[in-house]
Amino acid sequence: MEKANKLAFESGSSIVVERCQTCDSKGLKPILFLGYLPPVNQMHKIGDPPKEQPSYPAQILYCTICHLVQLGLIIDPKIIFPPEYPYTSSTTKILRENFAELYKECGTIINLGPDDLVVDIGSNDGNLLSNFKEKHRVLGITPEEIGKIAIERGIPTIIDYFKSDVVQKVISKYGKAKIITATNVFAHIENINEIVELILKLLTEDGVFVSESHYLLPLIETLQYDTIYHEHLRYYSLHSLKYLLESHGLEIIHAKQIPTHGGSIRVYAARRGKYHVKNTVDVLLDKEKEKILDKQKLSEFKDKVVISKLELYALLMDIKKQDKRIYGIGAPSRASTLINYTGIDDGILDYVLEIKGSHKIGKYIPGTLIPVEEESLLFKNQPEYALLLSWHIADELMPKLKQKGFMGDFIFPLPIPKIVKSSLV
Ligand SMILES: [Zn+2]
Repeated sequence: MEKANKLAFESGSSIVVERCQTCDSKGLKPILFLGYLPPVNQMHKIGDPPKEQPSYPAQILYCTICHLVQLGLIIDPKIIFPPEYPYTSSTTKILRENFAELYKECGTIINLGPDDLVVDIGSNDGNLLSNFKEKHRVLGITPEEIGKIAIERGIPTIIDYFKSDVVQKVISKYGKAKIITATNVFAHIENINEIVELILKLLTEDGVFVSESHYLLPLIETLQYDTIYHEHLRYYSLHSLKYLLESHGLEIIHAKQIPTHGGSIRVYAARRGKYHVKNTVDVLLDKEKEKILDKQKLSEFKDKVVISKLELYALLMDIKKQDKRIYGIGAPSRASTLINYTGIDDGILDYVLEIKGSHKIGKYIPGTLIPVEEESLLFKNQPEYALLLSWHIADELMPKLKQKGFMGDFIFPLPIPKIVKSSLV
């Protein structure tokens, strides 16, 4: 077979996607182009003069054969996931609760004994595995230095990428895994077919692979174009996951929508015929057919994104004409896409604020001179408006900020830009 896309891994550069990342088809239709975006984790220090910095085209494409929505460019992960990658997975309450719930749900589907091994790919600081570690054997695999935190928490962790020699090492040292999890990482690794093959190799005969990824359905429905950035190579629907996993002999046995990252999908898959298939799978497939997997819906998505950008501008213009101050709240990766796509600069946002301890404090938002400072500035300076860049967790954020003393109003940038009065929170 002709080799599919070349690899960006260790190329020091990027690769244009000319064939579908899953099925190798050339039938890729453009959906939306967000322009050239800087890597979200290359942040320059406040005070440093702006200097040369790469930026990469962000176009999303739709495969008419396997339904995969995917990025049109893959960047060497060494560029976008540097070892000092400033992210910890334990930071939000939603994530912690989600992993506790995942643990419980696994217990209802899989008969997991004390000697069974649970492997988490992209285990980060061990947040997910901490739920399993009391009663089962666990092992994390993560390329980031943050894996050391997991080791300190008593979770054995291999600090490396999930690749062939690492899998070989795991099998000989720990044996095969009854559960393999990959949360918020299964859409990040290129050469996905090889990854699925490696997962199969590591999985016991009756093992289950559980993945959680950003879900295309809420992305389209609530205009979350800001979750498009170069770390996310694929935007899965259940249809595209089904095509991918089935082509390797796996069968999806359960699927559901979960609230993490503004809307994700959790999918359980096992070797064909090993487990009962729940009707949740067909229910979600039908919902997708009706709501997203139709060319009309995908082109409407682009139109809505453009209108939302212009509406946000109109709203911000009114505020700036009144000489009012706006501070941004939260600097997650998605904030970088929103700010760069809409063209928000340091004349519009005075600051973006992060909670104490964030690695991003003292740096500029990528592609701009908007400084990231500590959250206490909000209560001290009392700007008239707070722009919620982490708008997907607004329900958690707004009451917290108000309780801590913020008196201004809130701005939602998406899906429909609007102001929420402090008195209504
Ligand atoms: Zn395809």
